[in-house]
Amino acid sequence: MTHSIVLPRLIRTGSGALGQLPDLLTACGVKRPLIVTDATMVELGYLARLGQGLAQAGIKSGLFDATEPEPTETSVLVAEAILRAGLDGQAFDGLVALGGGSAIDTAKALAVLGPHGGRMRDYKVPRIVDEPGLPVIAIPTTAGTGSEATRVTVITDPDNDEKMLCMGLAFMPVAAILDPDLTLSLPPRVTADTGIDALTHAIEAYVSRKASRFSDQQALAAMRLIAPNLRRAFHDGEDRQAREALLIGACFGGIAFSNASVALVHGMSRPIGAFFHVPHGLSNAMLLPAVTTWSIPAAPTRYADCARAMGVVGDGVSDEIANTALLDELRALNAELGVPTPAGFGIQPERWQQLRPLMAEQALASGSPGNNPRIPTHDEIIALYDEVWG
Ligand code: NAD
Repeated sequence: MTHSIVLPRLIRTGSGALGQLPDLLTACGVKRPLIVTDATMVELGYLARLGQGLAQAGIKSGLFDATEPEPTETSVLVAEAILRAGLDGQAFDGLVALGGGSAIDTAKALAVLGPHGGRMRDYKVPRIVDEPGLPVIAIPTTAGTGSEATRVTVITDPDNDEKMLCMGLAFMPVAAILDPDLTLSLPPRVTADTGIDALTHAIEAYVSRKASRFSDQQALAAMRLIAPNLRRAFHDGEDRQAREALLIGACFGGIAFSNASVALVHGMSRPIGAFFHVPHGLSNAMLLPAVTTWSIPAAPTRYADCARAMGVVGDGVSDEIANTALLDELRALNAELGVPTPAGFGIQPERWQQLRPLMAEQALASGSPGNNPRIPTHDEIIALYDEVWG
């Protein structure tokens, strides 16, 4: 079996790395970028900081600052009109995404819609979009999605609320800046949700049927960095060491799953996010303990390795003890980080009940459950939705 590994060409890391954006743009041959960001980045002054750097370097840029969380195609099309209008009569030749996964995914969608046109549903899986898109330089401000290093974008179809998974080389950023200073302002809730998202990427990539030696190392490194630091950053947002570890860990998690795929948790999580507007990391967290319990019998050694990498057991313990410790840890983490059940989140029981078959259908159609060590039927997915409900 062969594996195709895809990575960003350049990554700059460390406190203050944001200042290196002009250098990176030059290195990537981008002269007129469109900045894609959201209102929070404007309020926090991050956009102004980025803009100052560009102005000092004499680089003109355009701006789309209305990214919506968990972006729908509607907001992407507004941004597309700005991209098409160009700057001073010239076309934009690249995109800079400043924000969480939502801003980065919006920029990635534009990178393809700009040169190739069409609608986002034209690009969803099973199609693989390997055509070259506009270069994207990603500057994540959450430590979660790893989107800065993935060949994936996730955009919701407003017509049917489907969270469309789009994959291919066109969605891989050419460069990324990992500046932990930008994550110090993350509120505890977003820290928790995005951190569990990153941990889920690492676990799912490690147990995926498409895992390789390359993705395994990234996944294990991600777990080692994320597991001991997530509670620290949740309780003390100013903990710089924990913030930096989480940001690098999330990037490793992104590299791992982009090269090995995610599995059942993500497959089941996307429909919850789309239908009930649950933030992506939170819906992963709601599912992770139950799906892990269900999946362990098909890959006990792989899951035991996860427990060891996360530091919840020592290297010498048996797989059986490690698996029990892993499940205990995932439940304890959810409790400490205040992760609600779908019922506790306030989802209407009738609507949950009614949508389960469609959610299971969408989960299967995304292809992610097919990468799980234990592959579920439609009915088994519905049973798992029932199990996590209350
Ligand atoms: P997000 O980008 O939606 O941000 C969540 C909230 O946090 C927003 O309100 C944002 O303004 C705010 N925020 C972001 N950074 C902040 C900071 N430093 N300080 C204060 N507030 C800040 O959240 P996310 O979890 O990063 O991204 C979620 C999206 O990414 C979903 O649409 C999900 O489906 C997608 N996703 C994509 C990939 C991929 O590989 N492309 C992987 C996983 C998830």
